[in-house]
Amino acid sequence: MALTGIQILKMLPKKNCGECAIPTCLAFAMKVAAGQSEIGECPYVSDEVKEQIGEASAPPIRTVKFGAGDSAFTTGGETCLFRHEKRFENPTGIAVLVTTEMSDADVDGRIERFKSLRYERVGVLLKADLIAVKDSKNDGASFTALTNKVLAGAEDASIILISDNADNMKAAAAACGERKPLLYAATVDNGDAMAALAKELACPMAVKGKNIDETIGLTEKFIAAGLKDMMIDTGARTLRAALEDSVVARRSAIKSKFKPLGFSSITFPCEITDDPLMEAMVASVLIAKYAGIVVLSDLQGDILFPLLLERLNIFTDPQRPMVVQEDVYSISGPDENAPVLITCNFSLTYFIVSGEIEGSKVPSWLLIKDTEGLSVLTAWAAGKFGADMIAQFMKKSGIEDKVKHRELIIPGYLASMKGELEEELPQWTITIGPREAGHLPAFLKEWKPAA
Ligand code: SF4
Repeated sequence: MALTGIQILKMLPKKNCGECAIPTCLAFAMKVAAGQSEIGECPYVSDEVKEQIGEASAPPIRTVKFGAGDSAFTTGGETCLFRHEKRFENPTGIAVLVTTEMSDADVDGRIERFKSLRYERVGVLLKADLIAVKDSKNDGASFTALTNKVLAGAEDASIILISDNADNMKAAAAACGERKPLLYAATVDNGDAMAALAKELACPMAVKGKNIDETIGLTEKFIAAGLKDMMIDTGARTLRAALEDSVVARRSAIKSKFKPLGFSSITFPCEITDDPLMEAMVASVLIAKYAGIVVLSDLQGDILFPLLLERLNIFTDPQRPMVVQEDVYSISGPDENAPVLITCNFSLTYFIVSGEIEGSKVPSWLLIKDTEGLSVLTAWAAGKFGADMIAQFMKKSGIEDKVKHRELIIPGYLASMKGELEEELPQWTITIGPREAGHLPAFLKEWKPAA
């Protein structure tokens, strides 16, 4: 059972030294209890206490990490059934499958698309995360050769090795070196050998049953054997069965603390259908409902991009608005005569406003004031976008060195602030911009600095 903050506090050294980056032991204990800090962040707790608290405060879905550096991938760590209850922790990994039966051109194409299909959205890089390498010919040499090709071709890909043969798996896993792969999969037939290999190589292992009951039997056995870092595949290969298993597993782990299902799942939309659009639809359902990894047969922009956006929306923290950094942003190469606009740092506002300015083709300076992610009117009402704060930011932003004129365009919704701002910034003329970002292009095309 999870420990309370007070129970955890009793086991801490109570130095209140702040070395854990939290001022007091009590505050640190509360954060550990809430799953927001790791007990290991206190340098003074013994290994014994670490283990005791670590186990008790571990999330019901085990956190599993593999890969290294840029190719590191983390899954699990989930603590709730619904995003609005808290947040989802680790985004579903999107993997592309390559097999030893594919031609070089097919493999190269997938690796190339893995590297090139990358998008930036609200300041976040969106991309596929993993490449699943399948030993489809049950041939150790070609499996290791393909693994090496993927390792060299996609340096930031996390690797999933798929083979039923523990010897083939061992050779390919050794080729991965520090980039520890996920070993897929331990089954009823090869479980002992795969479990021994996972232990020997310190790699996480996926467990695959024919159905959810067989999967539970396998994970119980491996937990008893001391294995911790596992993922599960319940063997479901229809959308309905995969969805049902996914929901049952998550509910059992979160609500009933049922340890044999307390693992993130690896799912195979690529084995559920041959139709690429249907495959995307299956993947979208499984991303929404708890899959730790979805393995796709290929990556194509028109299919990958919507999945990445869906994932972004589901895995953003609903309690923390997305923000952009406070700064002066230059759009379309502005010079000293370009207009100067200001708005808040709520990322949606930034991207809409900057998009409209870009669309207007009027080179401009856009000042983004830190409002802790609140939108213009909310920030103003909360006292985070007042005239005095804007004036302070303007002075330290360096904008006065970038432009010859002294005219600031403020959001139309802040018209009532004009007088106050003019008092705070006596050298500046305050112009009220449009209320809607969509009207910015017409406004900017007409704009001329005040004489
Ligand atoms: S580092 Fe440890 S002893 Fe120091 S304040 Fe944090 S929890 Fe307390």
